[in-house]
Amino acid sequence: MKKLLILLTIMVMTILTGCGNQENAETASSETAAEQPAPEPAGPPTGMINGHFVADKDYSNLPTDPTIAVYDAYTLEERLAAGLPTQAPEVPHYFPPEGEKIAYLTFDDGPEGVITPKILDILKENGIKATFYVTGQSCEAHPEVLKRIFEEGHAIGHHSYNHQYKELYPDENNFLAQLVQTEAIIKNIIGVRPIMLRAPGGADNDFNKRYRPFLLSKGYIEHDWNSANNDAVRQNVPASELISTIKRTTGDFNPSAIILMHCCGGHMATADTLQQCIDIIKGKGYTFGVMSPMTPQPREERPAPPAPETPQAK
Ligand SMILES: [Zn+2]
Repeated sequence: MKKLLILLTIMVMTILTGCGNQENAETASSETAAEQPAPEPAGPPTGMINGHFVADKDYSNLPTDPTIAVYDAYTLEERLAAGLPTQAPEVPHYFPPEGEKIAYLTFDDGPEGVITPKILDILKENGIKATFYVTGQSCEAHPEVLKRIFEEGHAIGHHSYNHQYKELYPDENNFLAQLVQTEAIIKNIIGVRPIMLRAPGGADNDFNKRYRPFLLSKGYIEHDWNSANNDAVRQNVPASELISTIKRTTGDFNPSAIILMHCCGGHMATADTLQQCIDIIKGKGYTFGVMSPMTPQPREERPAPPAPETPQAK
């Protein structure tokens, strides 16, 4: 009987100790879990989505295809609030293979309700993607056209909120404020923000030396142009002049033609002559791309090929 009692006592103690251990183990494992950092929130989807590209939060995933439009899932204000990097991505610039040429059709000052859709129709018929540098005011007035530009795979770039030089050019902070205002409008319509930028009037004419590095540090990449149809040099430029200017300014010399045109009111002649201009540009051997972080600056030269390796001394 005494032996049985001792045996029972041992069994009960073993069970109790075991439970105790299990309890400790559970406590220990929940303590370990508490010490581990919480998993990062998933964030918005990135990569190729419906024919355009959304950059990662550190811009580490950008495409190398010059026909793909690149956007950012975050506005500058969202990046700052989340502690994400804001510096614009630096990637190797795209130059077509020796003997080939690429043209970037760019349309400024839209979207607009009649001329921009006509331009979009022509681009669609030709299977060409282009770039639209839009103002915030125009996006507010024609959100459905902005949406169409985006959905048809074109690139969208910034072009300020109101295009008023006297507000944009005394101070780079004024310029930035218009970009911040505009990208909130754009993101509200298409769900992403542009990172490409064209300065109203052109950076060559209007930026002082502070603007470009300041805007790059906030995530905006500016491009002027090196070709044009000169549709904005004065009112009602005749069609024949637009065509001859395209012939002249695209030249046969330029492997990367960034072509300035306008798609807002008063530029119906640009839409009317677009098919002819496309035929001329194609006839010169160009293919078509969209403005992206890979696009060289207008006067950037193709880098020299690497020097041949010198034979090793024996
Ligand atoms: Zn403009």
